[in-house]
Amino acid sequence: MNAVIDIRPEAATSGCADAPVLRERGQREVFCGLTGIVWLHRKIQDAFFLVVGSRTCAHLLQSAAGVMIFAEPRFATAIIDDRDLSGIADANDELDRVVTRLLERRPEIKLLFLVGSCPSEVIKLDLSRAAQRLSGRFTPNVRILNYSGSGIETTFTQGEDACLASLVPELPASRDAGLMVVGALADIVEDQFRRLFDELGIGPVHFFPPRSSRELPPVGPGTKFLLAQPFLADTAKALQERGATHIPAPFPLGAEGTTLWLQAAKQALGGDATRFASAVGPRRERAARALARHRTMLEGRSVFLFPDSQLEVPLARFLSRELGMKLAEVGTPYLHRAHLAAELDLLPSGTALSEGQDVEKQLDRCRDLHPDLVVCGLGLANPLEAEGITTKWSIELVFTPIQGFEQAADLAELFTRPLVRRTKLAA
Ligand code: SF4
Repeated sequence: MNAVIDIRPEAATSGCADAPVLRERGQREVFCGLTGIVWLHRKIQDAFFLVVGSRTCAHLLQSAAGVMIFAEPRFATAIIDDRDLSGIADANDELDRVVTRLLERRPEIKLLFLVGSCPSEVIKLDLSRAAQRLSGRFTPNVRILNYSGSGIETTFTQGEDACLASLVPELPASRDAGLMVVGALADIVEDQFRRLFDELGIGPVHFFPPRSSRELPPVGPGTKFLLAQPFLADTAKALQERGATHIPAPFPLGAEGTTLWLQAAKQALGGDATRFASAVGPRRERAARALARHRTMLEGRSVFLFPDSQLEVPLARFLSRELGMKLAEVGTPYLHRAHLAAELDLLPSGTALSEGQDVEKQLDRCRDLHPDLVVCGLGLANPLEAEGITTKWSIELVFTPIQGFEQAADLAELFTRPLVRRTKLAA
């Protein structure tokens, strides 16, 4: 029999629930929300993302997607050209033509997102009317929705939030009780969690977004939802407006975070303590053992997190509590007090928190503190490396499966690897 595990987190002296936050609203160095298409198109396998944008948007997507070359890719950019900008051509007619051609050629597409960009906003192209107009023509074969991924309105991971929020009105209504896990997870992670919830006797469990647009999860007053990602403010609000209830919890990063996340689900939906101990206990112990060798490398080292993916607060909690790192500064683009409450409670008191960015000032603070490791976007990483500061690209944290017990050591390794590389370079 497994030992009954202590599932109450050890309090972090007094936590950071009411800690002051430095708010900055200056120049920022963050990708726009189009980036989310790179992981969302892999998740919803019959969806297509059509960015209505410029060549810059197309380049961003291609470079963010890296080496992935598809014979039949599931994202593309409809380029707004000079004729559209000057009003010679009707951009709506052009868009209808592009969509019609795409859907005739690709009958496997069942869900089409028209994704707004800076250029489509500048010329005030109304993509929500375009989606309605085109839906009239292509429903029921294809559902057509729209959201904005523009750099004017969104940063990086907010693209996923905008995409999922646009899907919420499409979810079938239900009064049945059930759990919804919200936020795109790698399929392997989703499968692990599904098995775990089965073992815990918690169900029915639905994942949102689903792998197929034909399997949209039901929602209603009986739905309790657990966020798997910390950047889903609009999606959570839209689900609450459909009657669902948010389960407050830390995020499933690391052995402790995953335990508390599952425990919150058990408490909200009712679950058996013995089953919980026997399903979660051994997994948690294995994860803690796997983390130990990374702790040897990271303990006592300092980390500075620039605002980028909105994963910064849960990551800081993981790095400080499970790996013994010192937090020089924890920046985040947005600090959602309610969704991050359980995380803030677990941060060491006195942690320097910042929201938003004034990049030059933040770089100065970082240089003054000279941390052992900086987590930041691609734009800042190269200059900092050139100054002798070791960096980790935050984009990797979004593209890599990092949630759950089995991934805890992989997550830690993302932080040890750059330090090992720098040591080797120095040698
Ligand atoms: S949406 Fe805006 S910020 Fe994003 S790639 Fe296009 S032009 Fe650049």
